Amino acid sequence: MKYTEIMVRYGELSTKGKNRKDFIGRLAGNVTKVLRDFPQVEIHPRHDRMHIVLNDAPFTEIDQRLKRVFGIQTYSPTIKVEKTLDAIRETSLALMKETFKAGMSFKVNTRRSDHHFTYDTNELNLMIGDYLFKNMTGLKVEMKHPDLVLRIEVRQDAVYISNQLLHGAGGMPVGTGGHAVMMLSGGIDSPVASYLALKRGVDIDMIHFYSPPYTTEKALNKAKELTGILANYSGRINFIAVPFAEIQETIKEKLPEGYLMTVQRRFMLRLADQIRAKRRGLAIFNGESIGQVASQTLESMAAINDITTTPVVRPVATMDKTEIIRLAEQIGTFDLSIQPFEDCCTIFAPPRPKTKPRIDKVREYESRLDIAALVNRALDGMKITTIYPGDKFLANKAKEDTALL
Ligand code: ATP
Ligand code: MG
Repeated sequence: MKYTEIMVRYGELSTKGKNRKDFIGRLAGNVTKVLRDFPQVEIHPRHDRMHIVLNDAPFTEIDQRLKRVFGIQTYSPTIKVEKTLDAIRETSLALMKETFKAGMSFKVNTRRSDHHFTYDTNELNLMIGDYLFKNMTGLKVEMKHPDLVLRIEVRQDAVYISNQLLHGAGGMPVGTGGHAVMMLSGGIDSPVASYLALKRGVDIDMIHFYSPPYTTEKALNKAKELTGILANYSGRINFIAVPFAEIQETIKEKLPEGYLMTVQRRFMLRLADQIRAKRRGLAIFNGESIGQVASQTLESMAAINDITTTPVVRPVATMDKTEIIRLAEQIGTFDLSIQPFEDCCTIFAPPRPKTKPRIDKVREYESRLDIAALVNRALDGMKITTIYPGDKFLANKAKEDTALL
């Protein structure tokens, strides 16, 4: 049967008043963004639920998008019918026939917001249950944990019937958690950290450092394409590419090798912090995980973090690599992350970086550089683009490559 409307139940909505309004408003905005290529769809955010009227838009495609929108706990595709017993019976039976498989248990669950309707919820549960029993075989009722729940909702305008309860992405609508910047490389960890930031409602701008001519266009496009995957969870994301080669060359020329990595990272954080301030962000997110590599020991993190008092949030800090990989697979970034396009850190990585850099030494070495000038030139070269769900940046290139063969 063709679903006519989707009923959306809100997630962590413990908040009241203005926050509740903000939650619902943002969620409606984010749903509108991910469904923007279905102009016939109507979105009605209400106090306790959101109703999405399909107007013939295909449910399966809408479903693909909706399941990634944060702030949705569960949702049900429904069919709108007239407020008559006959109509409710017929549609209930048709939906049951579509979903019921031998051996399943079921129950009818009615809710009423129209308290003047001829039948109350108990009466409807019984009448519809009876009708189904008379017209189908093999049915088994189970009140506590049924395999199938037929939901009937009596509202003022009509009755809505559903045979499915789907799980949403949970979390908070992107934007309710404030604005921040995310340091996105092309690796496995930072896309997962981005996903987790978005899940808590934080609206992030991606900052990606790239180093032409040492890094290729493909490495940059990979970071952009990863952003396209992550934009599925937020509607769109600003991507800020910052040239980093001059800083790396200068550090390499002027500082002892053991400190290259720490100082590079301090520059990245410095740049990220300046961009954050300009864009009125409140925090910097990254994909560091404790102990994973030399730059991610607590000593290293402290030496790098030394340049700012801005909160640096590390969503994957305490996760094992295998846990991060599992999540990367689930959210769809893993296959792209493991593509072997070298980013700026791989190329300038010293063979033996210090795992316990000393802050006093780092500061002393760094003072040999004209930090402000280097930072300003990098900021002058930054480029901002807006990336939408599923935007591709590598596939086109691949096509061109094949065309040449
Ligand atoms: P990832 O898989 O996220 O690249 P990683 O294990 O490779 O992480 P590092 O390369 O040490 O770790 O980087 C640690 C963090 O620093 C990254 O998660 C990311 O937040 C940030 N970072 C590293 N390289 C870049 C870059 N080129 N642009 C932006 N941020 C970067
Ligand atoms: Mg990396």
